[in-house]
Amino acid sequence: MNKKPVKSDAEWREELTPEQYRVLRQKGTEPAFCGAFWNHHEKGVYACAACGAELFRSDVKFDSGTGWPSYTEPIEGATTQVVDRSHGMNRTEVLCAKCGGHLGHVFEDGPPPTGLRYCINSASLTFKPEK
Ligand code: FE
Repeated sequence: MNKKPVKSDAEWREELTPEQYRVLRQKGTEPAFCGAFWNHHEKGVYACAACGAELFRSDVKFDSGTGWPSYTEPIEGATTQVVDRSHGMNRTEVLCAKCGGHLGHVFEDGPPPTGLRYCINSASLTFKPEK
C-alpha cells in the first residue's frame, strides 16, 4: 500500500515553492490569468503539485473565462470537498484526497455533462503530457 504523504508543515514548506505552499497548505488563491495552466491546452493529466496524485484529465478542461484552470469533474476519488465559509462566502472547497492540499473550489455553474466548474489554482497542479 502507498504510504499517505502526510508531512509536517516544515517539510511542506521546504519541498514546495512559496506560491505552491501558500495555495496548497494555506488555502491561498493565485491571481486570475496569471497561473501556468488557465490557458493551457495540451492533452494529458493534471496532478497534485504536492503529492503527485492524478487529479484532472485534460479532456474535461474547459475555458471558463475566469482565468483559472477549470474542469467539469475530477478523476474519480481523487478529490474531497468541504464547506468553506471563509471570506463571508459560502463555497465548496476542493482538496487533494491523498495529501489534503487545497486545490480550489467547485461551483454549480459549469457546462454539461456535470454542470460543475472545478475552479483550480495552477499553483496546486503539475502537468503530465500524454505519451
Ligand atoms: Fe496531493
